Amino acid sequence: MPYAYDDQNIFAKILRGEIPNKTVLETEHSLAFEDIEPQAPVHVLVIPKGAYVSYDHFAREASDSEIVDFNRAVAEVCRMTGVHLDGGGHGFRAITNAGTHGVQEVPHYHLHILGGRQLGRMLQRA
Ligand code: 5GP
Repeated sequence: MPYAYDDQNIFAKILRGEIPNKTVLETEHSLAFEDIEPQAPVHVLVIPKGAYVSYDHFAREASDSEIVDFNRAVAEVCRMTGVHLDGGGHGFRAITNAGTHGVQEVPHYHLHILGGRQLGRMLQRA
């Protein structure tokens, strides 16, 4: 079954300019903006401009230029927010949730970049 993209999702509306966002970085194929409910001092969402539901959808179907652009945007966001390691930052966590088991709230692929404090272990035991 093909990936079903809902163009009424909130990030699609952000990309169309229908609702505001606090943009951190915009590139040819990607947009990075502040999460509306930050879980850490740095909490930026990086999204592709293309209509991809999830990481696996993006990785499977995006063009090489979209994939390169997205990953370079992630690196630039890490640098801009000071969480990158080569500049003396203390690091970050990159998370992407997918589908129901991944508890994905917004069905447009996004990578959370979290940092600015000690984040603790990745997962709690269920
Ligand atoms: P998910 O659970 O899908 O991985 O994460 C969705 C994220 O989107 C959440 O962290 C949530 O706070 C954020 N979010 C939801 N609606 C909006 C919005 O309208 N604007 C922004 N900037 N972030 C949003």
